[in-house]
Amino acid sequence: MTKEITLSKDYESIVEQDKNYVMQTYTRQPIALESGKGSVVRDITGNEYIDCVAGIAVNNVGHCHPRVVEAISKQAEKLIHVSNLYYTDVQAQLAEELVGITGMARVFFCNSGTEAVEAAMKLARVTTGKTEFIAAEHSFHGRTMGSLTVTHKSIYRTPFEPLIQGEKFVPYNDAQAIRDSITKDTAAVIVEPIQGEGGINVPSDDYLKEVREICDENDMLLIFDEVQTGFARTGKWFCKEHSKVEPDIMTMAKAIGGGFPMGAIAARDGVTFDKSQHAATFGGGPLACAASLASIGVIRDENLVERSAQMGKYFMDKLNSLELDNIVEVRGKGLMIGVEINRPCADIVDLARENGVLLNCTSEKVIRIAPPLVITKEQIDAVVDIIAQI
Ligand SMILES: *Cc1c(COP(=O)(O)O)cnc(C)c1O
Repeated sequence: MTKEITLSKDYESIVEQDKNYVMQTYTRQPIALESGKGSVVRDITGNEYIDCVAGIAVNNVGHCHPRVVEAISKQAEKLIHVSNLYYTDVQAQLAEELVGITGMARVFFCNSGTEAVEAAMKLARVTTGKTEFIAAEHSFHGRTMGSLTVTHKSIYRTPFEPLIQGEKFVPYNDAQAIRDSITKDTAAVIVEPIQGEGGINVPSDDYLKEVREICDENDMLLIFDEVQTGFARTGKWFCKEHSKVEPDIMTMAKAIGGGFPMGAIAARDGVTFDKSQHAATFGGGPLACAASLASIGVIRDENLVERSAQMGKYFMDKLNSLELDNIVEVRGKGLMIGVEINRPCADIVDLARENGVLLNCTSEKVIRIAPPLVITKEQIDAVVDIIAQI
């Protein structure tokens, strides 16, 4: 006899199940979400929210975009998974598409951001024959052992040490500090072209140029972690285009699949794995590739790169025009926006939610605003009004 799975509509019982059966690693907001469309999500009691979190910079094309839904459904009827022992049309097509939009030479597919960073670190080691990494203070690169090694926050790291050896952290936006930290074993510098979790920190273009020079002079690779900044989030296809600096390896994930889990790295000519040096069972699976192709198609056809730039400017101008005393700074690029305020912002997240807006607080005092790129002016006006009120 099969037991039917019935989904509860009762918030309390969902929380109870979560408490009993899920490891309590997340600090959750007190709502249970059920559906979404564009920039709006709805909870199980029917309340609607303008979503300025977007799954943390994942739902760039909006929730349940019809083209992504259709691509996943159609693909699911044909093939959900096969091994990388075989070719598939969708994976080959997506690879060509990604090479086109990144300007890199080749890609490797995996399933998440942290896995992309692991792949980048392995590739840097095998390419240079060196073992160590330089990363920035307040960096976030993921939670598995390799990526955690280059992630700065001590509460994430300390319980799991020893990690891989020889990592060095230097202040962000300080090229000289990188120069001073190089050893004969330094394989690569890994850097977010805008820091996400660290508080939406935007470096100067000169910084990234100088880091590029330092890497060239010292036979080190430059890794850009574009997991959060990619796929039109910052008003360019990739954040690297703002500085015109080309990395040797770049990581992608979050928005790559229009909400479907996927990760990838892309690398320039001459930087590549040899046979058997890396693999992932699910990497570049048919569903993820179909979702990603559809999502890239939406970004292109709906001009979301330009839209992100325009709406981001509109959003930031409006926030700045509030001239509120407790706003220290509004910063960001495109629709990757940080509003630093002069005290911890957790209660602002609560108040906004109670007024129908989902926000996220990162780095304690920074409100992170990363809505779907399809957000409308009217929705932005509504969000800014609510921020102003609270
Ligand atoms: C989110 C994030 C990661 C980790 O991605 P996961 O998919 O959560 O493993 C890595 N790097 C950056 C810059 C990120 O924002």
